[in-house]
Amino acid sequence: MKHKINYNWKLSTQALKAGEDNKIVDSHITPIFATASFGFPNVDIGRKRFSGEETGFIYSRLANPTVNVSEKKIAILEGAMLLDKGVFVEGHAFATGMGCISTVIMALTNAGDTIIATNPLYGGTDYFLDGIMKRFNVNTQHIDTSGEKGAERVKEAITSKSSLIFLESPINPNLIICDIEEICKIGKEKHIPIVVDNTFATPVLQKPLELGADISLHSSTKYLNGHGTSVSGILASRLTGSEREKLIFVKKNLGATQSPFDAFLVSNGMKTLPLRMKEHCKNAQAVAEYLEEHPKIETVFYPGLTSHPQHTLAKKQMKAFGGMVSVELKGGIDAGIILMNNLEVFNLTVSLGCIDSLISHPASMSHAKIPTDVRIKIGISDGLVRISVGLEDIDDLIEDLSRGLHKVSNK
Ligand code: PLP
Repeated sequence: MKHKINYNWKLSTQALKAGEDNKIVDSHITPIFATASFGFPNVDIGRKRFSGEETGFIYSRLANPTVNVSEKKIAILEGAMLLDKGVFVEGHAFATGMGCISTVIMALTNAGDTIIATNPLYGGTDYFLDGIMKRFNVNTQHIDTSGEKGAERVKEAITSKSSLIFLESPINPNLIICDIEEICKIGKEKHIPIVVDNTFATPVLQKPLELGADISLHSSTKYLNGHGTSVSGILASRLTGSEREKLIFVKKNLGATQSPFDAFLVSNGMKTLPLRMKEHCKNAQAVAEYLEEHPKIETVFYPGLTSHPQHTLAKKQMKAFGGMVSVELKGGIDAGIILMNNLEVFNLTVSLGCIDSLISHPASMSHAKIPTDVRIKIGISDGLVRISVGLEDIDDLIEDLSRGLHKVSNK
């Protein structure tokens, strides 16, 4: 069974067909190739595979047929329009989102370089940059990349040492939006690669490569898998030449590559991504609008609300506004704790992008290791509560929030 991919198919068709050209056993669904290594018919073929004279699998850390499917799928979901025009786009899959991020950063920087990054950033990325890369003399400048002025601030920050621009949009956890296209223009002008963490938006809502980025990456633990069943990371890249070679070299030798089992789960998750994102967005908009009107809520952060400071930019850059909503309660963290402890439909857990609704507290969980004064300065207050809105019936979600908020005192 072979599927010739048509780049003009709609995203939901691409999500089902892309990469599913399993030539080995003609199974309908790509199987899990649970093998560490692959046999060579003779020594000469083994030598040719290692030298690159002949294609073929060698060892699963380097490449694996099940993993290849998730890599082909992400390349097409992120880059079909570019591929159709003959632009080079390829996918690479990793053991975790952090495995993906650390590989990219180590591939594109050298000792003495500086990285320009959004402020805030996902906590793990922040710890990696400031706690690990700094030890190797790669420093990070955290810039306010939000909104229309973001590109100007990036331009001002660039020096001869700048070697990478690392963006998140929407940013975890406070849903700040960066103008990816404008920042990419600056990066291109200065010949600096631009990487976008597209975890919150997914390629259904936003395609960074089409906006000019070199790499769009994900914690595929989240929406791409969608079911909370595995951890993994994935990227689509337009890099060519020596930058591409460095990325592949670090990927293979740092070794944080995706396992066939996780690839199987993520590939199957990606098949329903367009469908799921539609419902996530619909439910999240309704939750955000409900909370914005609630007397016990101080602020709601959701790019789909007209009150969001970058709502117009989000409308320009994204197809819809995603499934993540963050709120601050009037009673601060004490009120947030009461809310989180009294919900029945929402699960109190970290992670996000699951079919069911999750709620968490960044200050004590995902961003706990950032010093308090720094955390507050970058907009992650003690009282910020992060909600990943799932696919339950919206009436049940609103009723659960209403009941939980009712327990919060009026003081
Ligand atoms: N990027 C973002 C925006 C995330 O939210 C996360 C995890 O929460 C990561 C990267 C890291 O991914 P993983 O936990 O799969 O390593």
